[in-house]
Amino acid sequence: MAEIVLDHVSKRFAGGAWAIRKANFTVKDGEFFILVGPSGCGKSTLLHMIVGLEDITEGEIRVDGKRINELDPKDRNMAMVFQSYALYPHMTVRENIAFPLLLAKLPRSEIKRRVDEVAGILQLDALLDRKPSDLSGGQRQRVAMGRAIVRRPQVFLLDEPLSNLDARLRVQMRTEIAALQQRLGITTIYVTHDQTEAMVLGDRVALLRAGEVQQIGTPKELYETPRNEFVAGFIGSPAMNFLHAEIGDNNLLLPMGPCPLPASFPLDRLGNRTVVVGIRPEHFYLPEAAPQPGPVFSAEIVMAEWLGADLYLHVQPVLPHPGPHEASSLIAHETGKPGVVLIVRVPPDLRVGRGERIELTYDATKIHLFDADTGESFL
Ligand code: ATP
Repeated sequence: MAEIVLDHVSKRFAGGAWAIRKANFTVKDGEFFILVGPSGCGKSTLLHMIVGLEDITEGEIRVDGKRINELDPKDRNMAMVFQSYALYPHMTVRENIAFPLLLAKLPRSEIKRRVDEVAGILQLDALLDRKPSDLSGGQRQRVAMGRAIVRRPQVFLLDEPLSNLDARLRVQMRTEIAALQQRLGITTIYVTHDQTEAMVLGDRVALLRAGEVQQIGTPKELYETPRNEFVAGFIGSPAMNFLHAEIGDNNLLLPMGPCPLPASFPLDRLGNRTVVVGIRPEHFYLPEAAPQPGPVFSAEIVMAEWLGADLYLHVQPVLPHPGPHEASSLIAHETGKPGVVLIVRVPPDLRVGRGERIELTYDATKIHLFDADTGESFL
């Protein structure tokens, strides 16, 4: 059992600002928990407080109900894998993996048995006599994980473990880490700045911004019901499109034309203000392929990105009534041209190109609405 409770945990570096402010959540026993967010948001600091490499300024961390704030890192029964792997270059793979067990003074026969077991799990059997310099990046990564799990820790902590690998290997190692975590069932906290890694790996994800947790939930919850504009823009790739809109009579006045408001929308709470509307690229459709009829608009293609399984078009709506909307629209992606640019997903076999016009619609029931001032979701 290893349930980790962060009880209003804050961190302030000497003379600095708050790196973490009132982190307050529970990582459940056996859970694969992700800390994600942009560079400098405090992910590593939070991980370091849990493992004991940084002091906690305020609040309490408990593991299975016991306060660990003052506990020495070596007494926390946690193992950490760093971005740099930190392998000993003069030792073989076997010696690297065995090292924590040597420190713990386990009998030689037990050490051999455990190293062989871990090497089997991580497919390192054939590499046990090599030095780290004779290994590929992915193999080094596996050795670092082997050295961490050989101690059978209660908690497994990984800080951007895949960032030194090329894109292909990253995807492969991601799958291996997920399989390993499921097999071992160890409570795992994994730090990344990559939202795809967070979505694929996490049972639950905590998204941080400037030291504050913005939202915690399953990947699906963060994707479908983002609490604010920041979460909405961070989760999902390509990112959600954001547009400024005004509230009309039972509709939203979007740059590409009015959008009838779904009945579930809290019109009474909106008043007559300007809101930010979010529409994901995958919620745009060709009119004939839409799941239900929606507002149709015409757009000019400014760029096409074909990825094999998907085709993303960057389009500029041809404005029915050019004027105030053009100026008030938020432009997420620059093209050098004035006006709104949207990224939309269309079928990959669609034969269209730059400069052409295309008719599009979107699923009005899937739009998101945010307060233009605070960024908070209205839904
Ligand atoms: P990255 O993804 O770039 O590693 P991160 O989300 O892990 O970033 P942290 O390294 O936790 O972010 O840093 C959080 C904040 O705390 C940053 O503003 C950073 O400059 C600051 N910080 C980190 N370590 C120290 C330190 N030892 N002294 C002072 N400030 C620090």
